[in-house]
Amino acid sequence: MTDDIDVAVIGAGVVGLAVARQLARQGRAVAILEAEGAVGTGISSRSSEVIHAGLYYPRDSLKAKLCVAGRRLLYAYAAERGVAHRKIGKLVVANGEGDLRLLAEVEAKARANGVEGLERIDAQTARAMEPKLRCDGALLSPETGILDSHGLMLALLADAEAAGALLALKSPVQRGRVAETGIELDIGGADPSTLRAKWVINAAGLSAWSVARAIAGVPTASLPPRYLCKGNYFQLSGKMPFSRLVYPVPGHAGLGVHFTLDLAGQGRFGPDTEWIERVDYAVDERRGESFYGAIRDYWPDLPDGALRPGHAGIRPKISGPDDPAADFRIDGPKDHGVPGWVALYGIESPGLTSCLAIADHVAGLAGE
Ligand SMILES: Cc1cc2nc3c(=O)[nH]c(=O)nc-3n(C[C@H](O)[C@H](O)[C@H](O)COP(=O)(O)OP(=O)(O)OC[C@H]3O[C@@H](n4cnc5c(N)ncnc54)[C@H](O)[C@@H]3O)c2cc1C
Repeated sequence: MTDDIDVAVIGAGVVGLAVARQLARQGRAVAILEAEGAVGTGISSRSSEVIHAGLYYPRDSLKAKLCVAGRRLLYAYAAERGVAHRKIGKLVVANGEGDLRLLAEVEAKARANGVEGLERIDAQTARAMEPKLRCDGALLSPETGILDSHGLMLALLADAEAAGALLALKSPVQRGRVAETGIELDIGGADPSTLRAKWVINAAGLSAWSVARAIAGVPTASLPPRYLCKGNYFQLSGKMPFSRLVYPVPGHAGLGVHFTLDLAGQGRFGPDTEWIERVDYAVDERRGESFYGAIRDYWPDLPDGALRPGHAGIRPKISGPDDPAADFRIDGPKDHGVPGWVALYGIESPGLTSCLAIADHVAGLAGE
């Protein structure tokens, strides 16, 4: 027997949950299909938990628009729903002429993106704010903050369920087909079934590509390439050197080995960038050596032996090591010609910050 529903959302990470919440609150009948036994065990459980201000992304890109809009929505939502967060601010620091030029580029992009409260500060002012810091200049972003991402996902799920959405755990989408009356999904697990949905939202994170390939009728030519870029973290033991987030100027595929604090006051450095072929979350202790060098550029007093391997996350990239950085890809029927199919690829950082704005954007596509 095939059950019918208006919308099936594949994946209960922060993006799938935000989309499900938005559509359910619009009165749509929504089922959330999640392969694992809990929500938020994928990319969303392995981030830096930073609410980004929107500094880095090219003007008018989806990343710029959805990060800035998403950040504003997210602070309001976290306050309303009691999701733990703190707007602690961030310094992007430059050491040397090259860095100062890159810092000016970051500032120009950030201003073009409409980021509020930015202040370019000299070395002395930066050191007055953060006495352990070494830099030749910095950009202060007071709108940057940190958040309990798991608390956020639980709040999104609770809202979605209160609006009538159904969550099915241990329900991997294994195959499917585009039919005349909707998209049929074959769901595995202990109790296999088939669901026919008018709209399917593919928010499967790292698996968005394999899910799309498993649906007969979705043109494979519509899929972007997939690259995996691992980000390793190292935990800091001992006293925290800074009270704000501290980032070097960004690198090519990541934001540089930066200092973040979590809500418990624990500090960590990372993520670095390691291009990999298959999913593997082990952190190689030896990568710590390059962390010491990178961190001592802006924190010369980092003691030997203060870092220990932490967690790792994997960015679902659609641009490779030699390509210019790609934007988010959120494809609706006008992009690939398949009625009822919306697919999200390359939702790396700032996907957590952007989740509520991504949900608005997807709701627009799924109402076409
Ligand atoms: C190292 C790192 C640091 C980051 N730091 C930040 C940050 O500080 N701030 C920020 O804004 N963003 C950050 N991000 C980005 C952010 O974490 C992601 O954009 C976001 O979590 C992506 O969420 P998602 O829901 O798309 O994916 P996921 O969380 O991976 O969710 C996808 C879900 O789909 C499920 N699934 C997969 N296949 C199937 C299937 N066949 N059937 C059913 N379900 C399936 C998975 O089990 C998973 O639960 C970071 C990312 C990384 C990698």
